[in-house]
Amino acid sequence: MATIRPYPFTAIVGQDRMKRALILNAISNSIGGVLIRGERGTAKSTAARALAALLPEIEVVADCPFSCYPAAPESLCDNCRDRLARGETLPTMLRRTRFVDLPVSATEDRVVGTLDIERAIQRGERHFEAGVLAAANRGLLYVDEVNLLDDHVVDLLLDSAAMGVNVVEREGISFSHPARFILVGTMNPEEGDLRPQLLDRFALCVDMHGIADPRQRVAIVERRVAFEQDPDGFYDEWLPREEQLSDEIAEARARLSQVSHTQRDLFTIAQLTTSFKVDGHRADIVILKTARAHAAWAGRLAIGEQDIILAAELALPHRLKRQPFEEAVMDMGQLEERMRKARAEAPPESSPPENSEASPSVKKPVSR
Ligand SMILES: [Zn+2]
Repeated sequence: MATIRPYPFTAIVGQDRMKRALILNAISNSIGGVLIRGERGTAKSTAARALAALLPEIEVVADCPFSCYPAAPESLCDNCRDRLARGETLPTMLRRTRFVDLPVSATEDRVVGTLDIERAIQRGERHFEAGVLAAANRGLLYVDEVNLLDDHVVDLLLDSAAMGVNVVEREGISFSHPARFILVGTMNPEEGDLRPQLLDRFALCVDMHGIADPRQRVAIVERRVAFEQDPDGFYDEWLPREEQLSDEIAEARARLSQVSHTQRDLFTIAQLTTSFKVDGHRADIVILKTARAHAAWAGRLAIGEQDIILAAELALPHRLKRQPFEEAVMDMGQLEERMRKARAEAPPESSPPENSEASPSVKKPVSR
């Protein structure tokens, strides 16, 4: 059987903001997902699918439906936990990162899974039928048209994305398993909005626009045609770039826990969100996490101004208050200006551990 090649991530023309948001979520899966808003045909699903395909392989418990990570005993599912308690050794294997596509008709049971109560009562066995959250653990969960999904289901997905665990309880019996994934939701704003409460719980947001630059449009067509004519050949051509990005993500993941920030950074972030009149603290936390992931990607061990700016650019678009009939616009000039002010107003650090390396490289596919 021939494998169906996904279009390579690094061959996607332009759309740097979207690509950055996806990569940063892949580096730090505790950021909490990204919402991509835009019209049809703007490479949203291509990008999400392509990212999953290039991510480093993961080590899993070979026969566990929840893809438990053997090296993290504290996050094992109840089954694996029981097996360890019985003295079993958990078999492990390496496999690719999964891409899970959530159907728009998904019900709560389908998403969280179900406990078989009859079996528990009759035979005293705890049996759990795994749902979408189980399949998505440590993978990428793609939710197309998230605005058309039942609010309650969106709520469950966002909860799981934030907590990293799925607990199902019924009649005094409970089952829990890890459910941490890269959540990617898309929506076409012309087809209805997402409630503000749900909107705010997506960590990052990217507004996609069609590409206006003729040269980029030509590159899109050329690559598309080349891919359709010879998917394998096209893939092989881009493989070195795909592997390089995959390695960068693996290195950034390993570096992430060592990335530090100062109190001054926190003040800067707070000043920035205050200046944009953003309510609550979610944005501040998201900016910090995203900035840390960006610093890790750039190979640094402390966050700097550029990390905060690029993080804010992704964390603020859906949190800006807008007047009716007015589009909330977020431009980099405005952001940099406020950043300068915020930095000036933040109290100086007694011993700044920041190292001021050149601004992190925003990897762009080489246009050919
Ligand atoms: Zn398990």
